[in-house]
Amino acid sequence: MGQKYTMEEIVTAAKVSGFIYQGSEIYGGLANSWDYGPLGSQMKKNIKDLWWKNFIQMNPNNLGLDSSILMNPKVWEASGHVGGFSDPLIDCKECKQRFRVDKLIEESTDEDLVVDGWDSKQMIKYLEDHNIVCPVCKNFNYTGIRQFDLMFKTNMGVLEDESSNVYLRPENAQGIFVNFKNIQRTSRKKLPFGVGQIGKSFRNEITPGNFIFRTREFEQMELEFFINPNDPKDWFGFWQEEINKFLIELGIDQNNFRVRKHSDQELAHYASQTIDYEFKFPFGWGELWGLANRGNYDLKQHQDHSNEDLTYRDPQDNSRYLPHVIEPSVGVDRLFLSLLVNGYHKEELEDGQFREVLKLSPKVAPITIAVLPLVKKLSDKALEVFKLLSLEFNVEFDFAGKIGKRYRRYDAIGTPWCLTFDYDSLDDKSVTIRDRDSMEQKRIEIDKLVNYFKDLI
Ligand code: ATP
Repeated sequence: MGQKYTMEEIVTAAKVSGFIYQGSEIYGGLANSWDYGPLGSQMKKNIKDLWWKNFIQMNPNNLGLDSSILMNPKVWEASGHVGGFSDPLIDCKECKQRFRVDKLIEESTDEDLVVDGWDSKQMIKYLEDHNIVCPVCKNFNYTGIRQFDLMFKTNMGVLEDESSNVYLRPENAQGIFVNFKNIQRTSRKKLPFGVGQIGKSFRNEITPGNFIFRTREFEQMELEFFINPNDPKDWFGFWQEEINKFLIELGIDQNNFRVRKHSDQELAHYASQTIDYEFKFPFGWGELWGLANRGNYDLKQHQDHSNEDLTYRDPQDNSRYLPHVIEPSVGVDRLFLSLLVNGYHKEELEDGQFREVLKLSPKVAPITIAVLPLVKKLSDKALEVFKLLSLEFNVEFDFAGKIGKRYRRYDAIGTPWCLTFDYDSLDDKSVTIRDRDSMEQKRIEIDKLVNYFKDLI
C-alpha cells in the first residue's frame, strides 16, 4: 500500500541534496535526531509561514501565540499528561529488543487495525492468538506490558530534586489553554475565536523512526478554536475543509491522503469527535494531521487545578460558560516528509538518461528561482537579474558547471524555475525560463519577470 519509491530513496535524496543531515553526525550522530540543512530549513520556514498565513493571518477570528516550552509542572497534572501520557511497552526476553505493543500489532497485519484504546489484556490476547513473534529474533517470549512515560523530565535551577522537576512540553496546546484568559481579555475577542501556535514539542518515543516521521524532538502547528457549545455552525466541518484546502494548496495529490474517523473505543474520553488525516507514506498510511472536538475538557481541568475562573462572559445574554474547542494539530516534520514523498520522481528522459525531480509547490520550494548565466563571463549582468528577483523571492545564483548539469541539480531540489542569461540577453534584455516539470522553455523580458512570477505563485 506504499508509494512508488522506497523510504531509502527518499532519505538518500534528502541527505545528498542538503535538505536534512543526521544530527551530531561528526560524533557518530544521536539516535533519530535530524538537522535541517540550508534547503530544509528554508522549506520548513515556508511551510510554517504558509500555515500561519492560512490559519492565523487570513482568518479574521484567529490570533497567534508563542508560549514557553518549560511550564509550571501543575499544567501537566491538570492536562492529564503526568501519569497519563504513556505508551504500552513490551520487551522480547530473548533478544532484549523493546517494542510499542500497539505498533507491533498494527504492523503485523495488512488489515487497517487501530490498537489505540485497547487495554493490555486485549493486546496480549491478540499477540497470542495471532502468534506475533518478535520481528528481530522471531521468538515468542515477551515480558508483560508496561506503560512508558513519554514526557522528558529535567530540573530547573541548581537543585536536582523533586521540587525542581520540570518537563519539556509534549504538545503546544496547553500553552494556549493556560493563556486563554489573558488572550481573551487583552484581545477583546468574542467567540468564536482561535489561537494558533507553532513550536517544538518533545516526546520520549519508544520506537522513533521512519526518518522524520517519528522523532523525539519535533515541531507542531496547533490551533485551538474556541466556540460556544450551542453555536449551530458546524465548526468541525469548517476546519476539516480548511485542512483539505491547505493540503491541496501544498500540491499534495488527493490519492495520497485520506480521512480516518476514530472509533468510539479509540476516542479520548473527553473528545466527542476525532478524525485523522493520513498520508500514504512508503511504509503505509500514517497519521499526518489530527482534528478533534475536545469539548471543554482542557479549560475545565485548568480551571479546577488553578482555581482561576476561566469562563467566558457571553455579551449576548451575559451568561458565563466554558467554551468548547476544536483542535486541528499537525506536525511540521511529518508534513515536510509528506511533501518529499509526494514530490519525489525519477523520470527517464528522451536521451535515455534519468533525472531526479522533486515536484514541490512554488509556495514551499526552498529556492523558487535559479538565475544561471550561460557562461561565467556573463555573471556580472546576470547578477543584476538575481538582485532584482531576490527582493521578492528566494533566488539562487549559480554559474558553475554545464547548464544541463545545473538544470539537473535544481530539478532535484525542487526549484520550479531556472532562468538562463545568455549572450542574446545582453541585446534583447530577456532571459530563458525553464519550467521544472514540463522542462519547456520560453523567452521573457527581464522587466516583466517580477510580475510574471508573482502571477504564477
Ligand atoms: P502518533 O499516533 O503518530 O504517535 P499522536 O496521535 O500522538 O501521533 P498528536 O498528539 O495528535 O499525535 O499530535 C499531533 C500531530 O503532531 C500528529 O498528527 C503528528 O503530525 C505530529 N506528531 C506527533 N508525534 C510526533 C513525533 N513523535 N514526531 C513527529 N511528529 C509527531
